[in-house]
Amino acid sequence: MIRLHDKYFKPYIQAGQIQEAVQRMVDEVKADFENEVPIFVCVLNGAFMFASDFLKAYDQPCEVSFVKLSSYHGFSSTGIVKTLLDIPQEVEGRSVVILEDIIDTGRTVKELVSMFSSINVKRFKIAAMFYKPDVYSGEYNIDYVGIKIPNRFIVGYGLDYDELGRNLPEVYQLNEKKMINLVLFGKPGAGKGTQANFLKEKYNLKHISTGDVFRYNMKNGTELGKLAKTFIDNGELVPDQVTIDMLNAEVEKFPEANGFIFDGFPRTDAQAKSLDALMDSKGMQIDATIALEADDEVLIQRLLERGKVSGRSDDQDESKIRNRFEEYNEKTAPLLAYYEEQSKLHNVNGIGSIEVITERLSNVIDSLYKEQDA
Ligand code: 5GP
Repeated sequence: MIRLHDKYFKPYIQAGQIQEAVQRMVDEVKADFENEVPIFVCVLNGAFMFASDFLKAYDQPCEVSFVKLSSYHGFSSTGIVKTLLDIPQEVEGRSVVILEDIIDTGRTVKELVSMFSSINVKRFKIAAMFYKPDVYSGEYNIDYVGIKIPNRFIVGYGLDYDELGRNLPEVYQLNEKKMINLVLFGKPGAGKGTQANFLKEKYNLKHISTGDVFRYNMKNGTELGKLAKTFIDNGELVPDQVTIDMLNAEVEKFPEANGFIFDGFPRTDAQAKSLDALMDSKGMQIDATIALEADDEVLIQRLLERGKVSGRSDDQDESKIRNRFEEYNEKTAPLLAYYEEQSKLHNVNGIGSIEVITERLSNVIDSLYKEQDA
């Protein structure tokens, strides 16, 4: 996920797929212009990257020229197409192939056709790297098409969102829904796992339980798992950076998620800052921290019940449970302050039926979405 200005974009078409499509177009064009020296006319600005890749792959004699039009502002075509750089004179009597970045409604194509209609060219063909058949007017035939896409706003590979994103070597699409990333806090027994399960379904969030992530990496012997193991085997604490790298790998596995629920991390102030830095590097942020609150005595009863069923020894011994609570109070309190300072802390009453608590948590998340829409 990347951020350009105020919007988020997610990966859509990989560089490899684009290169394959470019090569295919080159082959088609070459076959059609075997005994000719065509003039390729690159439509600026968006087509510069496509034209560059296309021309590098076009290993036959050819000439290159440029025109510049402007029409698009933000997400929707304004319909005004201005000529900023006109057709060069030398196209007279020659075969012209237009290199367009993307064909959307077709207004730009229409303008190009009318620009060239006053000149006597031998052949006139249009090549578009990306093409939106659902929106295109269909007025003119598009001779060579790279990749057909549905009616989505894309950036990268020359295409911009208000001038940003043109340099990206792959294509991203607008993420309509902004991400919501949460940190979930709560004492043992507060119902974090249970609630995270409901929330991830309801909001298409990915639950990242740090404990699970550790177990996964160690069990599967990933590089990070092996690294973590060397510390654990020496009786040392795993450095935060290793954990952060694991979380990073986890976040990258789910580009389609609408957000993440972090559980079990951060546990210290330093970790909270590293998590913020990780989020920032991905154009994301922690939007809210939810602390599921419940009275110690209620939680103890819950845990003792759970211990009877699960057989977990640490859930069966009241003094051990109280120790865990104390540890939580000591370590988590400063963290809650860290998030409170940023007005991101939401305390949620964790006493009640599972459904009622889910409802309370949903209210918090819904309010985050409302804030974003405002
Ligand atoms: P048309 O004139 O066919 O409606 O739109 C063509 C022009 O609009 C393109 O040259 C490009 O500048 C812009 N455009 C159309 N669709 C998109 C899109 O999905 N993303 C970006 N960044 N620009 C687009």
